[in-house]
Parts: sequence; C-alpha cells; structure tokens
Amino acid sequence: MKAKILYIEDNEQNLYLITFILNKKGYEVLQARDGQEGINMAIHNKPDLILLDIQLPSMDGYSVARTMRTYPDLEKTPIIALTSYAMGGDREKSLDAGCTGYIEKPISPETFLTQIEPYLRDSAAEAGEK
Ligand code: MN
Repeated sequence: MKAKILYIEDNEQNLYLITFILNKKGYEVLQARDGQEGINMAIHNKPDLILLDIQLPSMDGYSVARTMRTYPDLEKTPIIALTSYAMGGDREKSLDAGCTGYIEKPISPETFLTQIEPYLRDSAAEAGEK
C-alpha cells in the first residue's frame, strides 16, 4: 500500500508542486495550511510521514512538531521540517523540537523524492514490527 503523507504548508505554490510530485509517485497527500489544522489531521489520519513547513502563520513549525510529539500515536511518525536555506539555526531548532530530519528550501523537484524516501522506509519497518 502506498504511503499517506501529510503536508503542512501555507505557500500555495509549494503546496501545489510538492503534492504534484508525491501524487505522481502514487503517494496519498493530505494538505493542511496551518499548524492547528495539521495537528488535527495528523491525529485523525495517522499519516506515515509528515512534511512540515517551519514558517507558518500563527503557530510555527517548531510548536507544531512539539505538540505532535505529545500524542502517543504521533510519537514515532517521521516529521521532516522544511527549513529555509538562509536560516542556519532552523535545522538544529527543528531537531530540538522533535523533527526527524529536515529539507532545505527551495525544494528541488529532482531530488525531493530521494530525500524523503529513506524516512518512509523507516516508518514502514516500524509499522511492520508491531
Ligand atoms: Mn511558509
């Protein structure tokens, strides 16, 4: 079964581009446009992977990741932070907040899938152990 990916992003162009790339590969994509919506969708849909933009309105990505980690169902879900290249501190802060990894923006459509697929394999292995 193809993985279910939750993508939390407030930028419509990124949302469109990444969703297109993931759909084309056969992944199911759930979209959220702000942190609270993303948290609610994560709780209800238990995605295999979460892509989390760090710069979001009202609640930033760090708070979103921290909140998600307080839910037992989301404790081990891979969360990949989408950080801005210019903001050096974003990476460490993302990992401190509970993210599993990070990808720097701007996203490269050519390498994006190879960047996220290792996290999906880990997630599948984890589910298989249960
Ligand atoms: Mn943003």
